[in-house]
Amino acid sequence: MNKLSQCYLCGAPIIDNFLTAYDRQFPRVEDYNYSKCRSCGLVFMNPLPLPEHLAGFYPGEYSPHQEKPGDMKRKSKRNIFSPHGSNRLLEVGCGIGSLLQRHNEIGWKVKGVEINPAACEICRARGLDVHCGTLLDAPLGDEKFDVIFFNHVIEHLLDPVAIFKKASELLAPEGRIILLTPNSGSMGFGRYRSAWYHLDAPRHIFIYGAGSLKGLCDRTGLKIAGIRTLPSTRIWLQSENIERMQGQTLANSLEERKKLIRSSADTKKKSHFFRLLMSPVCAISARLGAGENLRAELVKTK
Ligand SMILES: [Zn+2]
Repeated sequence: MNKLSQCYLCGAPIIDNFLTAYDRQFPRVEDYNYSKCRSCGLVFMNPLPLPEHLAGFYPGEYSPHQEKPGDMKRKSKRNIFSPHGSNRLLEVGCGIGSLLQRHNEIGWKVKGVEINPAACEICRARGLDVHCGTLLDAPLGDEKFDVIFFNHVIEHLLDPVAIFKKASELLAPEGRIILLTPNSGSMGFGRYRSAWYHLDAPRHIFIYGAGSLKGLCDRTGLKIAGIRTLPSTRIWLQSENIERMQGQTLANSLEERKKLIRSSADTKKKSHFFRLLMSPVCAISARLGAGENLRAELVKTK
């Protein structure tokens, strides 16, 4: 695919070689260039990956596609919405279906979309109605949903404009898209750059901020009804570990990369002190719009 010379979303000039990133989880030889829009702030992989390369970015051991003990308990504490409207909820990129199952239990009629076949199998074993594919090929007909949830999904999408147009069509009149995604304007990204845990190259193709999310809405018949940034001392600690063990520039040979990534996995620091130290800083940064994650609610433009 050709390299873009302007912003993927708004067409404004870009900082071409904003940073070079490496896969910090699964060793591979490729380097990935990211550009940054000078206007809306979108950070994106440039050139964009080819669609046929995406599946290779997610090895079997990619954790969101695996069943883990305690998964439900951990996730059930957050991102649970109270039933309303006609109680219809769609989760795009539902992984192994923990949140869908929880919503089902509290009265939602739930559907899911998930691209990973192994994760889909787990969903089906749980009795969940999940389409294995993308939102674009999901057989949803003229169904409408009160909530369409994207939990750390949009940063992975190669075609966010098409997906959001489709999501907009699937919203009930008072329906909302609720999404969580890494924040390109975060203090952690500014500090750790290529070693920022949330960059997660090559799986994260687009890193949005408030400005670029608005750009995405402008192109897809949506508007932002609410937006805030959330702190995460966990992302700071993970980024600190990556930088400490792997450095900003990961070694060039595959063998060296394997060794570095293995050693950082072996010596993962669980520093309560670091998280305690960072806690007030993270809380203040989130209030100022520089938290590690964005949480936004989107509605259809009337
Ligand atoms: Zn832009």
